Amino acid sequence: MFLFFKKYYPIILSFFLLILFGFFIGDGLIEKRYLTSSLLQSKADSMDQLSLEHLRIDIPPHINLTNFYKTYGQRMLGNDQINIISREEWGADNRYSDIQFIEDFCQKNYCYEDRYNPEDTFSEKEYWRSLELSINYKKNFESYDNFFLQSLKKENDFVYYYLPVEGIVIHHTAGKFTTNFQESKEELQKIHLMTAVQRKWRDIGYHYLIDGAGRIYEGNLGGKYSIGTHAYGHNKGTVSISLMGDFRPGHNKLTEPMEKALINLVEYIIKEYQLDISKREFYLRKPDLSGREMTQSLIKGHMELDIREEPTECPGVDPEYLRNIIYSSLNTSALY
Ligand SMILES: [Zn+2]
Repeated sequence: MFLFFKKYYPIILSFFLLILFGFFIGDGLIEKRYLTSSLLQSKADSMDQLSLEHLRIDIPPHINLTNFYKTYGQRMLGNDQINIISREEWGADNRYSDIQFIEDFCQKNYCYEDRYNPEDTFSEKEYWRSLELSINYKKNFESYDNFFLQSLKKENDFVYYYLPVEGIVIHHTAGKFTTNFQESKEELQKIHLMTAVQRKWRDIGYHYLIDGAGRIYEGNLGGKYSIGTHAYGHNKGTVSISLMGDFRPGHNKLTEPMEKALINLVEYIIKEYQLDISKREFYLRKPDLSGREMTQSLIKGHMELDIREEPTECPGVDPEYLRNIIYSSLNTSALY
């Protein structure tokens, strides 16, 4: 026994030292993290003076944490410049977030077996890539996200989660293109039923939707900074806008009122979230979540963030086209 120790004692000793060191460092970090977290919330006003450097959490420079802690969960229903049609106005049925309602509905009507899992649509090769993506995510963003994650319970005990917003993702619904208000409301109710009840997500996945006549609709009930369900791997820290219709070549065409509404909505989001876009360079999550990268735009099309070999064609139109019309029209001077 003694010989064993004599032979291996440097290894055993370094092993114990490592454990001791781990406890010490780990505890220190947890304590600092906890302290800073409560500081962030209680002293949101003095955020500017607070240094987070010791935590080694990379905060993209264009996000505004003070605004995040003060306003997450608030519903964004427009102002004098922009009209956003509320869920009440388009007839959202809040029973759709009720688990009992979903169960009863699904006994009599068609529903998906389980809560819809995007991984089910992956090929085997893509499945392994998606696993890699989740490892990337854990390595690069988990501590960041856990640090800022907040939650709020709303209708029917449905808990919404919140994170600072880094970017905007544009989609299309790949559904019906409508210009008539009544038809748009019916289409919204259908999307709500399909996602919240039949897919069992308990709410509509998008934050905003825009119809063919340029009407803007409130999406999920989570409100400001809520994490939606719209882009696998990129739901955290993004706001989603969905153009109602199918905008792939040969299908529906974007209308001028829709484009105008999209520009107005992006401007409203930038203002409301107090995103600093003055530098026009954004430190965003890479599409494969392997870290962050500087990009020229905080606006992405869903297809640019899809890891599948044949990425989704969403939002149908070229995201570059959307970025061009948005950036050439954004009244940046009016934002500050
Ligand atoms: Zn999409």
